[in-house]
Amino acid sequence: MVERPASVVKEAVENSLDAGATEVKVSLYEGGKVRIVVEDNGEGIAFDELPLAAARHATSKIRTVEELERIRTLGFRGEALASISAVSRFEVRSRREGDETGGLLRIEGGRQVMHTPVSCRRGTRLSVEDLFYTLPARRKFLKSAASEERRVSSLLRDFAVAYPSVAFSESRDGKAGFSSSGDGDRERLLRDLWGDAGELRRCETGASHLSLECWWAPFPGKTRSLVTSFVNGRAVSDPLIRSAAGSLCRACPGNWVFLFSLDPELLDANIHPTKAEVRFRYPGEVFDTIQQAVLKLSGRVPSLPGAAVPS
Ligand code: ADP
Ligand code: MG
Repeated sequence: MVERPASVVKEAVENSLDAGATEVKVSLYEGGKVRIVVEDNGEGIAFDELPLAAARHATSKIRTVEELERIRTLGFRGEALASISAVSRFEVRSRREGDETGGLLRIEGGRQVMHTPVSCRRGTRLSVEDLFYTLPARRKFLKSAASEERRVSSLLRDFAVAYPSVAFSESRDGKAGFSSSGDGDRERLLRDLWGDAGELRRCETGASHLSLECWWAPFPGKTRSLVTSFVNGRAVSDPLIRSAAGSLCRACPGNWVFLFSLDPELLDANIHPTKAEVRFRYPGEVFDTIQQAVLKLSGRVPSLPGAAVPS
């Protein structure tokens, strides 16, 4: 599950969002190969619970099997911090609102080496050094710093689109990189990301069990489309959405963003190790809403692929 710096950042940012953070700051040193720091202003972790947070299968988010049926948080397996701290020099500092002091927990290669009170600001600061120092073979698979940075940057851009009310910022070896304002204005954010796209169109569509917010910035004269999709705030590259969106957008090149919202009970987010794929109870509605949105925004009736999607 932890493959590279971007996977660490993804898990950490999901935790920050689950903790209600409105500011998330990511700092990378040598593309995250030397150090990754993720800081948030979320609810924090109580001193006594710090060791539990990094223990395997310990999650504060799910208590019963029924709760697993309707996950509203981004994390739920209680594995991320345990996996990351097993393969790095890991440190978390955290303080909850109202607690006088915060806590510091340090784990090296899975072994707890420090747990002590510390003064720190409200929220959580995670530091991951020497990722995979315990697994030299895995470490060798990391790409250049620039390439790891690009993955993290694109991940943060996706998070920013999904959460326009959260201010994300990124720094690379101390130099400021991407940042979003967190002012909640998704249109302005997309214009920033797409370099003032010129024309930018938005619509909403819905079916019985889901709703879709869709954005399109046409690329005049191009033949390709870039499609990003989110389901309940989670960036997914689901095969169903990909094939539906791919065939529907081919005729209408441009940057497309699809944001689906639905009752989490109608979704299985637990089928993929990095949660990048989801299973819909009503996949036909996904297809229908994409089709409607493309029609609304482009005025074209999209040509459908031969294979019918089950309803
Ligand atoms: P999961 O997210 O699946 O619960 P994780 O290993 O990612 O599992 O995190 C374990 C627990 O640590 C979480 O359930 C949460 O209680 C706590 N935690 C982790 N990161 C944060 C954070 N940034 N702010 C507050 N709590 C956190
Ligand atoms: Mg998590």
